[in-house]
Amino acid sequence: MNQIKMIKVNAIKNGTVIDHIAAGKALKVIDILTLTGNNAVMIGMNLVSNRIGKKDIVKIENRELSKEEVNSIALIAPSATLIIIKDFEVVNKTSFDMPEYVEEHIICPNPKCITNSEDIPSKFYINNAEIATARCVYCEKKYLVEDLRIKI
Ligand SMILES: [Zn+2]
Repeated sequence: MNQIKMIKVNAIKNGTVIDHIAAGKALKVIDILTLTGNNAVMIGMNLVSNRIGKKDIVKIENRELSKEEVNSIALIAPSATLIIIKDFEVVNKTSFDMPEYVEEHIICPNPKCITNSEDIPSKFYINNAEIATARCVYCEKKYLVEDLRIKI
C-alpha cells in the first residue's frame, strides 16, 4: 500500500465507505482491495459504535468494489455496511451478506493445493451454517471461515 494517500477528512465526494467493520479488521479489508494512487483512503479504527461496540471504518475515494471484493470482505467482515457515495450523498447502502463463493483473495491452507504451487486463483464455496465453512474447489478440503487467511 505504498502509494495510498491517507486523508483525514470525514466526507468523500465520490467513492465507497465500508462501515461497521468489526474492530481490528480494517487492515484485512484494505489487503483485499486493489488500490491505486488515485484512490485516497481513510481508515478509522476502534471507533465507538452504538451498534457493534467498537468498529473500524474504511473510506475509499473514486472507487467501487468488484463482486469478488465484496464477497471476500463479507467473509472477513460480515457485520459491515457497504455505502456508495456520489457528490457527497449516500446513493446506496447495503449490508454484506455471507457470499456463496469467494475467489482470488483467500489462501488455501492446504500446502499441497495446486493454488499454492501454481498461478491459479483460489476459489472456495461457502457453507453458511452456524459455523461457516469454506470448501476449496481444487483440493476439496473444508476449512472454518475464521481460519482462512487473505492473500496480500
Ligand atoms: Zn485447496
